[in-house]
Amino acid sequence: MVQNIADKGRKVYKCSICGFGYTDNAIAKKCEDFCKKHGACSLEITKHAVLRGNS
Ligand SMILES: [Zn+2]
Repeated sequence: MVQNIADKGRKVYKCSICGFGYTDNAIAKKCEDFCKKHGACSLEITKHAVLRGNS
């Protein structure tokens, strides 16, 4: 499940698998689907990340 978290006052949607965060829920969902299916991230998707890694 995509997590909705607050980061420095902005809303960030976090992929629960790779931990990357996005400002767009649709992209976070796409990332999670891709991570689940391929066991790896898509560069096309993660380039939109505003938050990187699990922190
Ligand atoms: Zn992901």
